[in-house]
Amino acid sequence: MMTLTTINTLRTKLEAARFAAAREGRSLKVALVPTMGYLHEGHASLLRKARAENDLVVLSIFVNPIQFGPGEDFERYPRNPEQDLALAEKEGVDLVFLPEVEEMYPAPTRTQIKVSGLTELLCGASRPGHFDGVTTVVGKLLHIVGPDRAYFGQKDAQQVAVITQMVQDLNWNVEIVPCPIVREQDGLALSSRNVYLSTEERQAALVLSRNLLEVQAGSQAEEVLTASTLREQLRKNISLEPLAVIDYVEVVSFPGLEPLGPEERVDDQGQDGDILVAVAVKFGSTRLIDNVILTKKVNV
Ligand code: AMP
Repeated sequence: MMTLTTINTLRTKLEAARFAAAREGRSLKVALVPTMGYLHEGHASLLRKARAENDLVVLSIFVNPIQFGPGEDFERYPRNPEQDLALAEKEGVDLVFLPEVEEMYPAPTRTQIKVSGLTELLCGASRPGHFDGVTTVVGKLLHIVGPDRAYFGQKDAQQVAVITQMVQDLNWNVEIVPCPIVREQDGLALSSRNVYLSTEERQAALVLSRNLLEVQAGSQAEEVLTASTLREQLRKNISLEPLAVIDYVEVVSFPGLEPLGPEERVDDQGQDGDILVAVAVKFGSTRLIDNVILTKKVNV
């Protein structure tokens, strides 16, 4: 395919290995930002942070078939490599790794990475095998590119927890850097999948950010708020939107993803430690996820 930009692209593992070899012995800090493309301002924020903190920034664009379940949107997932390369160039990316599926998974492929405990709940419960696909591809990308740091969005908070656990458990020498959620002006969390939404569905989807941001603001208020009240209030408020079909509404510890006792307080007077309030909701055929993290002030 002709590219309109001058940015360097790598399409094979061999090219990527040459890149890795070229930096051997030079103390350059390399960042990897793994994505599935169709880039937006959320991805751009990761690239900017990576650019500010490292010498070389590698962006990978790969729609990873093994993290999609049967009947999910792998085939119709939005793709626009030309636009992505233009954005990458604008953000000062040094290299884009754009492998084909056959390059990443030459047949037969028989090995997968599985993180247990963190992957069976939340998105893992509704998308069995999803996180095995994610950890396998991220593991492969980390090995191919060999970055010092890899950047991930908190939009996929469970993914951040799972990947951090993976690199810790497997003693991989890479720092996982979480980055805040980027939202549209009206609150909707940016996602490549937002293009699927009709005008009515997009309007309806605001119910998620509106309620989650309210929870975040309210968690610092004086009233006693327990995990079960919070979950039920949120579930009720989201259900008021007729187009919203709830997959899950959960309140768990972060990054441990441990369930909270129903009476456990999630306001400022509760136990120390971050709490993840996460939702997955369908609008038509589009499943959206969003979350906020309630960070406790240490009681003084
Ligand atoms: P994706 O292309 O959807 O797989 O996302 C690639 C990376 O961008 C992941 O680490 C996502 O968490 C991150 N990301 C996607 N949307 C956002 C957003 N709205 N804000 C921050 N990061 C995001």
